[in-house]
Amino acid sequence: MNNPDQAISPRPVKRVVIAGGGTAGWMAAAALSKTLGKVLDIVLVESEEIGTVGVGEATIPTLVTFHRLLDIKEQEYMAAVQGTVKLGISFENWKDVGHRYIHSFGISGKDHWSAGFQNFWLRGRKEGLASEYSDYCIELQASLQDRFSHLPRYHVNYAYHMDAALYARYLRGFSERYGCKRVEGKIVDVVTDGEGCISALKLERGEVVEGDLFIDCTGFRALLIGKTLGVGYTDWSQWLFNDSALATQTTAVRDAVPYTRAIAGKAGWQWRIPLQHRVGNGIVYSSRHMGDDEARAEFLGSIEGEVIKQPWPVRFQPGQRQQCWVKNCVALGLAGSFIEPLESTTIHLIQRGIVRLLQAFPHAITQPAIDEYNARLNEELQHVRDFVVMHYHISDRRDSPYWQEIAEMRIPDTLRHRIELFRETGEVFNVPGELFGVNSWVQVMLGQGIEPKRYHPTADVMSQADLARFLGDIRHNVLHTVRQMPLHMDYMRSYAPAP
Ligand code: FAD
Repeated sequence: MNNPDQAISPRPVKRVVIAGGGTAGWMAAAALSKTLGKVLDIVLVESEEIGTVGVGEATIPTLVTFHRLLDIKEQEYMAAVQGTVKLGISFENWKDVGHRYIHSFGISGKDHWSAGFQNFWLRGRKEGLASEYSDYCIELQASLQDRFSHLPRYHVNYAYHMDAALYARYLRGFSERYGCKRVEGKIVDVVTDGEGCISALKLERGEVVEGDLFIDCTGFRALLIGKTLGVGYTDWSQWLFNDSALATQTTAVRDAVPYTRAIAGKAGWQWRIPLQHRVGNGIVYSSRHMGDDEARAEFLGSIEGEVIKQPWPVRFQPGQRQQCWVKNCVALGLAGSFIEPLESTTIHLIQRGIVRLLQAFPHAITQPAIDEYNARLNEELQHVRDFVVMHYHISDRRDSPYWQEIAEMRIPDTLRHRIELFRETGEVFNVPGELFGVNSWVQVMLGQGIEPKRYHPTADVMSQADLARFLGDIRHNVLHTVRQMPLHMDYMRSYAPAP
């Protein structure tokens, strides 16, 4: 019997085996083969018959950085995945039915070292000097006006929408160019050695794939980390009620907007991810609060365009693997954790896992390196979990048993503290390395109607005339900059034309 908690003796790494060829598998293959392909033997095993989860098409700006690290050319990538630009997420019906706000990737206004911009805006609003919070952020305003372009003097912070199947295909070509070997076949057995480490994968046709380090990218099946090594899973369904999804693809009926739509419903929410050639649609819901038939009817009744791919169901359990790296096996993607895609964070977490693995890359796998990896990843996962849970907790909705139960939910203490601090003082603290910075917390908390009771006294130091000028200059600059941008799809058609 495997004991996942038992430390291993250091072991050299020459052969890396990636089990699974979804987004996680091919992202790992691309990064490892580009960076260490000359010194490692990298093999990826995948099964066309099993296929991939087929969703995961909205990203956050860290993917742009990941591609830069791999030297992936943006225009080539965008054309290959039918990509569009994403400047943020439009949250519709979250505060209440009929209400909308945007959480953008941009920075609002200008901070003073002692106090964030929101403090100046809060005073300005109290004194009738400030307009909407959305007027002070370029990315947010560009989303509202459906505009985008790269700019010579300002770095627009953006991410992508992409076709997940095309992305895996693109990364496969990329990885193979850097020496990754792909093996087609179904894994039917995972062989372990005397220390409980994985030594080989056995495939249905009898082939045996041996390795020193195994990366489990087999999705929710978690064949290596879960089924073989027996690593447990921490369930987060007390905070995240949704456990089911239906996804489908439709034809585009209008030009793609540069943001993902997240539309809250009676017992969950729906996504719209606009690509160049089609739209990805999905409903995420709690099966305790809505039956599958009802979810299907609500979903199909609200999507636009012609259905290209019939809806397919996905079941999931929110939570995380107790350790994502155990012995000589690292779990990435759905095999390691799942937080619903409300803030499009899973591909980012895959990327973080890959980058951390590469940075800690062992000539020999050692227990301290494993412990460090798990500790950092746990922090990141809990931070993302808190941020997602917040959207539910601060909603005013009470119009169904689902929302009523959410209103009663006890949230993690870490999250309660952040919200109370903001409510009392208008402040948000920044923890270095956390994914969601001050701007994200403030845009969502103000967006969903949290009213801070106070603002920082630094904001009172300015005279009223200076404050009016300060806010007016920022607003003018935002509106002037956005006006120079073309409509998003006009820009995309010339920047990354469909192949
Ligand atoms: P999968 O795509 O399931 O791939 C698993 C691979 O393992 C496949 O290649 C399969 O063939 C292989 N495999 C499994 N068993 C075997 C076997 N026995 N033998 C051989 N091969 C095997 N993330 C985002 O960042 N943004 C989003 O907008 C987003 N939306 C999502 C919506 C939903 C409803 C869900 C469930 C997830 C979403 N995600 C999103 C997460 C995202 O889809 C995944 O993180 C991403 O696709 C990675 O999946 P994966 O590679 O881990 O698993």
